[in-house]
Formats: sequence, structure tokens, C-alpha cells
Amino acid sequence: MKRKVGIIGGGAAGMMAAITAARQGAEVTVLEGNDRVGRKILSTGNGKCNLGNRKLDLEEYYTGNSRRLEECLKRFGTEDTVSFFQGIGLMLKEKNGYLYPACEQASAVLDVLRFELSALGIKVANGCKVGRILPGPEGGQIRVESGDETYSFDCVVVACGGAAAPRTGSDGSGFRLAEQIGHKLVPSVPALVQLRCSEPYLKAISGIRADAAVRVWDNGRCIANERGELQLTDYGISGIPVFQLSRQVNYILRRQREVEITVDFLPDYGREEYEALQAGRKLLQNDRTVEAFFTGMLHKKLMLQFMKMAGLKPGEPVEKADASALDKVYRLCREWRVHVNGHNSYDNAQVCAGGVPLDQLTEDLESLMAPGVFFAGEILDVDGKCGGYNLQWAWTSGYLAGKAAADGNQIPRCKQRGI
Ligand SMILES: Cc1cc2nc3c(=O)[nH]c(=O)nc-3n(C[C@H](O)[C@H](O)[C@H](O)COP(=O)(O)OP(=O)(O)OC[C@H]3O[C@@H](n4cnc5c(N)ncnc54)[C@H](O)[C@@H]3O)c2cc1C
Repeated sequence: MKRKVGIIGGGAAGMMAAITAARQGAEVTVLEGNDRVGRKILSTGNGKCNLGNRKLDLEEYYTGNSRRLEECLKRFGTEDTVSFFQGIGLMLKEKNGYLYPACEQASAVLDVLRFELSALGIKVANGCKVGRILPGPEGGQIRVESGDETYSFDCVVVACGGAAAPRTGSDGSGFRLAEQIGHKLVPSVPALVQLRCSEPYLKAISGIRADAAVRVWDNGRCIANERGELQLTDYGISGIPVFQLSRQVNYILRRQREVEITVDFLPDYGREEYEALQAGRKLLQNDRTVEAFFTGMLHKKLMLQFMKMAGLKPGEPVEKADASALDKVYRLCREWRVHVNGHNSYDNAQVCAGGVPLDQLTEDLESLMAPGVFFAGEILDVDGKCGGYNLQWAWTSGYLAGKAAADGNQIPRCKQRGI
């Protein structure tokens, strides 16, 4: 008798779980809420799909259980991802360690996965939104309800994603399924998302992009920093460094605390070098207007705003300007301070931090509360930075959960309950 495995959610993790389980000889059905599988994959990597990273660094992941995460990534890591995709016909290319399909089309990643689902005879039920999982006695059948339909499986993999980008199908309903069977979740917040700030003058400087070092402050302590292209918008800040820091900021905001961010727009200058630069500019350009004096340092709109904040008039002669006001402009270039009072919603977030804790699962990602129910992908309390980290986790966890779900030996191991 073939083992019957049900996969709830046909995203990256669900498709990997389905393919792996079917290759192990299981009879696999994917229950997907959308009218098609893998919708989110199409928007990844700006349509190019950054599906992994050859320079994967564990420090770039966040989870409540790093040891378990490390073990999982050892069992199915980047090179396994490369072999898997090459094995289903996808040519890959690498840029600074970042892995993409060679044709730079995310649709190719989805296509090879879909072709493999079909080649393995995996049934896909689209438009099948699961509302309830009813685990049976240990080793018994698990019932899954979707509308009026009830399905029965030997094992189930829950791969519904988190709550980010709900237009792609991951609307947080997987979290409710996990709670129904007894899991206590790590609270979730949007991650890899834009931040909203309270400064009233943001409209005047919106549209600027600049290389910058960005630091997050909590109670006067710098808790995180990133460097990269910062984007100023009419409501706040965006760009890769902001995305990377957003999950830490959002967890602080969740505790009703305001967060300060400082931006250094000249991160390549050391302190002495910067002082020398200021002294040199004073010598050479002291016969100009304030505006002319600061021209060429940073984007013009930003310099004009900094002059305004320092109380300087752009047209006044620099030799008559208040020296401390000139210093303030120099300081703002190195330490522009903004107050973050919110973030964009899950609609704009690339991932969702929080979810089902790894501690509540076995090493094969099987629920300690409901034997026979496995979890994979973003629904778990693992999220990573930009750079292929989140899809790598989807492939890794999908592989491990799919393999174990198809392997009946896993079920008695679930005796390690009682957390
Ligand atoms: C714009 C954008 C760009 C991104 N770019 C990258 C990138 O380049 N590299 C990278 O590593 N990561 C990227 N990510 C993150 C990455 O796409 C996700 O972390 C990953 O797709 C998560 O896979 P998943 O299978 O866990 O969840 P999802 O891909 O969200 O799939 C979950 C599936 O489950 C279905 N579903 C949900 N609830 C139910 C239910 N109750 N019943 C049945 N089906 C259900 C959904 O319809 C969906 O198809 C990006 C994300 C976004 C939004």
C-alpha cells in the first residue's frame, strides 16, 4: 500500500515536499487555495527568482532555534538545491553567490517544478482552501477539510506560507491551522518591508537614492546596522538596508516603543578624514553662498533640507553664516536621525517573521502535538535576509518534511512529546 501524503499549500515549500514525497513512493495530493500553484515564486527576485545563495551564512537567518535550523540546512543545503534544480532541467547562474535561473525568469523555476509534479503523477487540487486539520490517533488517518470536502491522508505537510504578500495566497490561514492542532506561535510581524517615519519634511526629499550606513537604536543602544542603497520615500525609508533591518524594528514597534534610525550618507569617511574634508572645503570655498558651499556633497534636495534644519539660508554668504549651523549640516550628513512609527503592511512585505517554533517539531519537522502533521516553509519561525535565504529555507524544509512524511518510520518517533 502506498502511503497517502497530503500537502496543504502549493508554494515553493509545498511543491518541494510533494516532489520529494512522491519520489519516495508516496501517493501525493497537493491542496492549493489559489487557482494555480506557485504564484508567489513568479514575483520573487524582481521576476528573476533568487532561489538560493552559495555564500549562505547562518547569521543571516532569524529563528528561535538556530541549532535546529543549522541541522536542517546541513541535511539539505545550497548544493542540494543546485543538484535538485539541475536534476529537473533548470540551468542556473550565479552572481556574487546569489543563484538565479540562467534565463533570469522566475516563471522557469515554477515551470520546472510544475512539470516535475506532473511527471510524478502528483494530484493537484486547485481552489482547495483548507480550513481544518483533524488529526486521528497516533498512526491513524488525518482528515483535512476544505469547504464541504474531506480528504484523508496518512500524513500531511502544512506549507501554507506566512502572512506576507496575501495576494499570492499566503493570508495567515496556515497559522490558524497550526493553532487548531495545539501549536503556540511566535507572534508574526512583516519583514523585508518599508518603514514609515514621523518626520514632517519627508515629501521634500522623497525619491532620493543614496549609498548609506543605516543603524537601528533601541533605548540608546545600536542593535543592528546595514549598508546599501537607501531610498527615501514620502512616508519613510526603503531599500535593501531598510528591508534587512525591518524585522528587528517591527518587533520593537510591536512592543509599542518608538525606534530611532540614524543614517550616515558618507560611510566611507573615517572621523579624521571627514574633519580634513570640512577644513579643506572651508579654505577653498569660503567666498560662496551657503548653497554653493555645500553643493556636490550629497543630493541637492537633501542638502537643502539639511540647511533648512540647521537654520541656514541657501543664499546667504558662507563667511557670514553661523559656524555651528554649518557644523550641524556636516553632522546631519553623517547622522541624520529619523523616528520610525510604523511599517508598511503585509501587502508590501516579502516575508513574515515568526510562526510555528522549531522547538515544537521533531528534527524531521513533524508536529510534537499532532503526529503525522509536518510543517515546511515560511509558516515556520524562520526568516532570512534578502539574497535567496527564504527560498532556500522553503526548499530545505520542504525536502525534509516531504521525505519524512513519505517514510512511515517517522510516526512512532513522535513519542517525544510533552514540551
Ligand atoms: C515580492 C517578493 C519577492 C521575493 N523574492 C525572494 C527572492 O528573490 N529570494 C528568496 O529567497 N525569497 C524571496 N521571497 C520570499 C519567498 O518567496 C518566500 O519565503 C517563499 O516563497 C515561501 O514559500 P512557502 O512555500 O513557505 O510559502 P508561499 O510561497 O507563500 O506558498 C504558500 C502556498 O499555500 C497556499 N495556501 C495558503 N493557505 C492555504 C490554505 N489554508 N489551504 C490551501 N492552500 C493554502 C497559498 O495559496 C500558497 O500557494 C520573496 C517574496 C516576495 C513576496
